[in-house]
Amino acid sequence: MKIAFFDTKPYDRSSFEKFAGDMEFTFYETRLDGRTVGLAQGHDGVCVFVNDEVTAAVIDRLYEMGIRFIALRCAGYNNVDVEHAFGKIHVFRVPAYSPYAVAEHAMALLLTSIRRIHKAYIRTRDFNFSLNGLTGFDLHGKTVGVVGTGKIGRIFIDICRGFGMEVVAYDKFPSADSGISYVELDELFRRSDIISLHCPLTNETNHLISAEAIEKMKKGVVIVNTSRGGLIDAEALLAGIKERKVGAACLDVYEEESDIFFRDFSGHIVEDDTLARLISMPNVIVTSHQAFLTEEALENIAETTVSNILSFTETGACDNELCYRCGNIEDCKKKRKEKCF
Ligand code: NAD
Repeated sequence: MKIAFFDTKPYDRSSFEKFAGDMEFTFYETRLDGRTVGLAQGHDGVCVFVNDEVTAAVIDRLYEMGIRFIALRCAGYNNVDVEHAFGKIHVFRVPAYSPYAVAEHAMALLLTSIRRIHKAYIRTRDFNFSLNGLTGFDLHGKTVGVVGTGKIGRIFIDICRGFGMEVVAYDKFPSADSGISYVELDELFRRSDIISLHCPLTNETNHLISAEAIEKMKKGVVIVNTSRGGLIDAEALLAGIKERKVGAACLDVYEEESDIFFRDFSGHIVEDDTLARLISMPNVIVTSHQAFLTEEALENIAETTVSNILSFTETGACDNELCYRCGNIEDCKKKRKEKCF
């Protein structure tokens, strides 16, 4: 069994090699897209990450080469044309590897931002012990609005409750008996001091945080996004910050991250003016899609990805297949007992 890994980093290699067994892994640093798809030739399957571009054209080329599965080593699948893959190539994902990693990173970003830790760190390294301009605010008693109350959202809610915060939430599919106080999105925008995004990127959630949404928010709102960049209209966010309407933004993901994140551009000129301007703001913290990056998560990702592949090749079915048969991509496995086509 030969598998081509795209968009890999040294940490992928070390976590996956432990689970290789009889499989042969080829690790490519380049992303999978229309130009690089030829590198998959001679393999049985491909393993991809969040910024690989698994478009209809790429899927057709993979299919022509005899590739029969795409193993996502992540939870989100907005970069894969799952509908087009149906009937041709099976797609698996890792639905959960460490929701704690992402939820804890969201809180780490929030605390760093509102207590100005990023500023203090730089100051004290330069032996500047002044406190001027470092005044933060208590989280205790503040209202946090959580959009998406799945695995990560719920852990983030628990963390926030530990800080004594009021939690309101919005989910397209609210969970009864969860003890979560659900409100409509507009009410969440109106009431929240902090808004944290934990829903997937879909056509419906694209630019969920738009100029219009920001208009409805409290002055000084802190926006945290550890989900997917496309949930926020970055230009609108920048305008909201310039107008002093948005008090701070904590971004682990960015709309146009695919050509920038995970790479070292120090010493280079970054072409993306919106990102450069956001980073230049004193009240914006950007991390490079790092929320998942814990030892526990990497080990779970490698173990589940390999077990998805083995399950599919040995039994013909995989519980973590993204199936398009009934359009209910994630949950139709509850109805089917075998592979999706
Ligand atoms: P999940 O599937 O457990 O939860 C997603 C929740 O969003 C569900 O409750 C679902 O009902 C809700 N939802 C779906 N459509 C919605 C809509 N239109 N409006 C509001 N809510 C909606 O997923 P999860 O494991 O909690 O992950 C959440 C997101 O986090 C993923 O989609 C992924 O994009 C992102 N993520 C980021 C990182 C990172 O490193 N930054 C790592 C893992 C996951």
